[in-house]
Amino acid sequence: MVDLDQRLNDWKEFIAKRKEKDYFSDFGPPHYANFLPPVIKKNYGKWKYHEILKCGVLKHVAENGDAIYSVRAASPRLLSIYTLREFCDLADKYCDGFLRFTSRNNVEFLITDESNIDPLINDLKAMGFPVGGTHDATAGKYALSNMVHTQGWVHCHTPAIDASGIVKAVMDELFEYFEEMKLPALCRLALACCANMCGAVHASDISIVGIHRTPPLVDDDGVRRMCELPTTVASCPNAAIKAKPKEKTVEVNVEKCMFCGNCYTMCPGMPLFDPENDGAAIMVGGKLSNARHLPTLSKVVVPWIPNEPPRWPGVVDVVKKILETWASEARKHERLIEWAERIGWEKFFEKTGLEFTQHLIDDYRVTPYQYTSYRATTQFRW
Ligand code: SF4
Ligand code: SF4
Repeated sequence: MVDLDQRLNDWKEFIAKRKEKDYFSDFGPPHYANFLPPVIKKNYGKWKYHEILKCGVLKHVAENGDAIYSVRAASPRLLSIYTLREFCDLADKYCDGFLRFTSRNNVEFLITDESNIDPLINDLKAMGFPVGGTHDATAGKYALSNMVHTQGWVHCHTPAIDASGIVKAVMDELFEYFEEMKLPALCRLALACCANMCGAVHASDISIVGIHRTPPLVDDDGVRRMCELPTTVASCPNAAIKAKPKEKTVEVNVEKCMFCGNCYTMCPGMPLFDPENDGAAIMVGGKLSNARHLPTLSKVVVPWIPNEPPRWPGVVDVVKKILETWASEARKHERLIEWAERIGWEKFFEKTGLEFTQHLIDDYRVTPYQYTSYRATTQFRW
């Protein structure tokens, strides 16, 4: 059994020793045990079961009968300090200040007094934050969780699309599936704003990926002032960049370029933004779970949709169409990849109304269980 107090003391001792030696640093997060609600700390490693009281409300019960309730709400895409303060005020009012953020951008309020659940939900709804995103696998009822996504134009340097704006537009349209558990199985949505795929797009059921479709420009003056030639040449995974040492710049072999944007990360003198040609691809069928079916990497089903800010109607329509077709056709617990493979990919395109083109022929043959280890999944045979 984990002795949490012992681990916390060990950590405090370790920090004290580092301070003595005068090389204390504030890098890295503080120890998580400092922030656990007392009931979780008291019952650490001794939780017995959990149940879903209603969409967005979970109850965890410990061996000794102690209980903690989590109320899950969707957080907005651009999280300002003002919104965070509002969440903290609610946490102070209803749950002794304890809340947590989930890996899919939900906020969970951790409550010990059951009578606080409904007043908290009423406050959240009055402030415009929807409550939901949970699933009850035993009952076979699933809600859509919030979307995982990357930074987009707001923060990163290589995006082909926005992130927050598209996610907001998509979730506005799929709102009802967050607030009610009416899907047949889990469905994970994700967005990455370039092919570096910081978001979990390769492992989500429906994904949006920003893609560039034209090679980087070479701004000779910018390259001279800002870039180191050997690093820039080495940054290209396809060996498409050649140094021109005399001119102190580079040239790109456009035949070899796959528009990944890696060179721009190394060299700001090689921008590859193209408002006309950048856009989004749609992928489906990724999953991490070993349940019933192997973990799978998602496949492209729509190669390109143009950037259409501020509401991206093309992307929203396709995501909604795929989700609703799967939701109306799939069996209980059947993830998108399981449904598509059961009915066949031809039928998938027929039923979703998506156009099949030569860009979608799947010649990727490295499946998770053939990759580097037979242990990549629990489902393997000798
Ligand atoms: Fe930046 Fe690409 Fe990651 Fe988006 S997916 S945050 S553009 S590296
Ligand atoms: Fe190479 Fe990618 Fe730059 Fe093209 S975009 S030149 S493939 S690093």
